[in-house]
Amino acid sequence: MSDKPWLAHYPEEIPHSIVYPDQPLPLFLTKAAAEYGDKTAIQFMGKELSYKELHESALKMAAYLKKIGIQKGDRVAIMLPNTPQAVISFYGVLYAGAVVVQFNPLYKEREMEYQLKDSGAKAMIVLDLLYPRLQKIIRSTPLEHVIVTAIKDYLPFPKNVIYPFIQKKQTGIVVQVENRNNNHFFTKIMEESPAKEVPLQTDVDRDPAVLQYTGGTTGFPKGVILTHKNLVANASMCGAWMYKYRPGEEVILGVIPFFHVYGMTTVMILGVMQGYKMVLLPKFDVKTTLKTIQKQKPTIFPGAPTIYIGLLNSGHIHQYDLSSIDACISGSAPLPVEVQQKFEAVTGGKLVEGYGLTETSPVTHANFIWGARVPGSVGVPWPDTDAVILSMQTGEPVQQPGEKGEIAVKGPQVMKGYWNRPDETEQSFKGGWFLTGDIGYMDEQGLFYIVDRKKDMIIAGGFNIYPREVEEVLYEHDAIQEAVVVGVPDPYRGETVKAFIVLKEGQHITEKELDDFCRSHLAVFKVPRIYEFRKELPKTAVGKILRRVLIDEEKQKNDQP
Ligand code: AMP
Repeated sequence: MSDKPWLAHYPEEIPHSIVYPDQPLPLFLTKAAAEYGDKTAIQFMGKELSYKELHESALKMAAYLKKIGIQKGDRVAIMLPNTPQAVISFYGVLYAGAVVVQFNPLYKEREMEYQLKDSGAKAMIVLDLLYPRLQKIIRSTPLEHVIVTAIKDYLPFPKNVIYPFIQKKQTGIVVQVENRNNNHFFTKIMEESPAKEVPLQTDVDRDPAVLQYTGGTTGFPKGVILTHKNLVANASMCGAWMYKYRPGEEVILGVIPFFHVYGMTTVMILGVMQGYKMVLLPKFDVKTTLKTIQKQKPTIFPGAPTIYIGLLNSGHIHQYDLSSIDACISGSAPLPVEVQQKFEAVTGGKLVEGYGLTETSPVTHANFIWGARVPGSVGVPWPDTDAVILSMQTGEPVQQPGEKGEIAVKGPQVMKGYWNRPDETEQSFKGGWFLTGDIGYMDEQGLFYIVDRKKDMIIAGGFNIYPREVEEVLYEHDAIQEAVVVGVPDPYRGETVKAFIVLKEGQHITEKELDDFCRSHLAVFKVPRIYEFRKELPKTAVGKILRRVLIDEEKQKNDQP
């Protein structure tokens, strides 16, 4: 069998190898402004920003960050939903030569504090609604500056006037950010800062562009170092894969979050690289998404299985015209074949499954958009990307197609390593191969299939949850003696979080109390949905809890008719 059997299926339009532009990532925005200047870059709830405006805004942000002391290599945190500010901030931080650290807006104080300390971020750009949370922990973080913005800052009249009232009604929060020395205001920066392009001293192969937090195969979230080259390479591969789409012409839907590597690369970076119109939605909501598709007519719609399932099951999908959609690309979790077929039938477009990880910027595999798509498979490795299956017994590449093992990959999109964690970096590579922690196989044709996960991570609704993080919160509760958190199958979220609890002698606690406790310490998507109280948990001879036994028990329950 050939070394890379999948290459035989590549259509002639997709190169096996690409010459990557030797450019820092933000310069693609400079290029887009020159080539597509007056075309719309961003459409957000009725407000449009042209490529020229986006470029100027990002330069203003960069100039301001430098003015307040941000230097090359400094980390700048961004905690924003998909908004024009998220895109401006992303490119602004990069134009300043600094490193973006993305934060999920659902994070609670302890999660924010951990990531701010771990990354050593000096400045943070944050939504006003999230500011009260930041205020509670800011003193114990290295933050020196906070830039605050509100959704209304980028809404057209009269939405910008009405929105604060809607926001107050929905959240009950009225935010008054004090005008103190280390608080800065996005709108003021846009009014007062100069938009001047300054040459960048970037080593594209070595300099980090982004620190993207993920658990990897073990433990607590850690910062994945993605260089300019990693991200430029992955977005270029994505462009090559989508060869029929016209630069400067397509409309791409930005509903998957840009703070996750998937939205960041396949919408926010690819979109700018190709001069697409990016239609942003700050969160996934069935009706708004359907309405937006009908009105803005996106041709490309990257999503996660939960999004497609949510739209299909809503009962509203047939009321809208979704015929503009030509291709949906599903990633981040397994796509049920039935969902793929039904969604294709409704939209008339293609729904193509891909695969990847934060550590690989993220995409390593995908099905072809034009050509054979194999339901259930994650497709074939991308240009310049190599993949093998390593035997679970020997750690060596398997000899036969169909043999299962850990998927390992190589390619220019593979991270440099984990931030300040040389040991974990070393453990995640073997002979130059990055170990994905996913179990799968390759068939005779060179197509790859994912069957299981070696790592403990749970993926619920496209979000990653690291059991240890949830368990540590549970262990802080006085009534709890032991806690184990596992992922259990869920028809909508793919997986959901279940906690097995052993209580201390004589203690009682209700599910509701536990739920309240977890909600006050964790982002809501990490909070267990199911609790099971047990007298004891399965353990090894040395007393290690057998997480795998519990996972297998749950799987068996699910398989029973
Ligand atoms: P993240 O680092 O958040 O991008 O999560 C990466 C993990 O998501 C992978 O290691 C897989 O476990 C999982 N994943 C991504 N895409 C797929 C897919 N198409 N099928 C199954 N699992 C996937």
